[in-house]
Amino acid sequence: MIKNESYKGSQRVFPELLAPAGNYEKLVTAIHYGADAVYLGGKSFSLRAKAGNFSSESMRDGIVYAHEHGVKVYVTVNLIAHNKDFAGLTDYLLSLQNMGVDGLIISDPGIFSCATKTVPTVPIHLSTQANVTNKESASFWFEQGARRLNLARELSLNEIAEIRNRVRGELEIFVHGALCISYSGRCMLSNYMTGRDANQGSCAHPCRFSYSLVEEKRPGEYFPVEEDERGTYIFNSKDLCLLEMLPQLVASGVDSLKIEGRMKSIFYVGGVVRVYRAALDYLAALPEEAWNEPADISFPPSFIEELQRTGTRGATENFIKERPGSHEMIYTSSRASQFYEPVAVIRKAGDKPFVEIRNALFVGEEVEYMQPGLDVVPLTIRAMKDEVGEVVNKANPGNKVFLETDSSLSDCRVNGILRRKKNVQQTKYTN
Ligand code: SF4
Repeated sequence: MIKNESYKGSQRVFPELLAPAGNYEKLVTAIHYGADAVYLGGKSFSLRAKAGNFSSESMRDGIVYAHEHGVKVYVTVNLIAHNKDFAGLTDYLLSLQNMGVDGLIISDPGIFSCATKTVPTVPIHLSTQANVTNKESASFWFEQGARRLNLARELSLNEIAEIRNRVRGELEIFVHGALCISYSGRCMLSNYMTGRDANQGSCAHPCRFSYSLVEEKRPGEYFPVEEDERGTYIFNSKDLCLLEMLPQLVASGVDSLKIEGRMKSIFYVGGVVRVYRAALDYLAALPEEAWNEPADISFPPSFIEELQRTGTRGATENFIKERPGSHEMIYTSSRASQFYEPVAVIRKAGDKPFVEIRNALFVGEEVEYMQPGLDVVPLTIRAMKDEVGEVVNKANPGNKVFLETDSSLSDCRVNGILRRKKNVQQTKYTN
């Protein structure tokens, strides 16, 4: 059994919920749905080059907004650096310090060293790209001055607990999101196949491609590569989902639970953060006796059902209980399944809220307002008026309209999301 390490004195402490913020709007959405901290990248020195990322101005604004809401901001400086990449680094680190960032996410030892000398008071969080898989490695990095380690995704719960028992510094683990078939950052597939370097933030995700075999004297003749009869997506992993392991992860004493997905939509970020926030709040409300056996704590089915509505390639618990096998891969498609889609974001709250449309919306449609927590408010759109008060029957993406609905939306909040069910077949989420 995992030792119950989640106490400070006699007080149980719950881990921070750390959310991806690929741009300012995603930052606001993550905070709206309950993130304790967000991570983001600037235009330089960060992986996820296509995540949108923040200009200096938007990063400054994002940090101010987050701090006003009691939320911490960690900035990625996590590329695998070459000599040329150090040009301008010290100025960039100083500018981040001046903006008041709460931590720097770093993987390269050279950048780590530069940061400890240039901005010694800014906490350094070691990125998952540094692949910390054991307690000796964890001790090493804390001795170098790291404040926090994001442990490798390839660890079991027992290994995490062993590391926890060895070191006192902060430990962070990924609980949700896309996985690589390699150790994070140790993959050259994209570089070889497309010239886009995953370690510079430009991965083209060729692990999700469909592969065939070609004999070199017969170009154009494709022989199927089949591990079994289901298909040919031989490197295509399901997405990580450790929701049901949260009680044991909380008990193990980890300090931060991280959600992957800076390149994902506000609908995904808001939807996933919302469920994990509700799950942590559910655990915090349990009586103390429940924690005698964390493995026996379970969530009502509504938690996993709501997660399913955010879009997924299926779910795996990866290495947390046992080594993953072929059933952790998806052989039939590389696309994520999404059974709900966002319709609008609330820009002004009220009984007739003013919303920004994300997918075309018609009068008469049934939608749902995603409240913080797991509840939704089902609604039928009765009428829409545009910004100058003209009645419209259809609103297109980017339009801003006032909504009249059958149920009251007087409790809705700015930055809340309206969604609707898509007309597609839903498949099984968990193993
Ligand atoms: S190709 Fe796939 S496994 Fe490799 S870095 Fe990109 S996402 Fe990860």
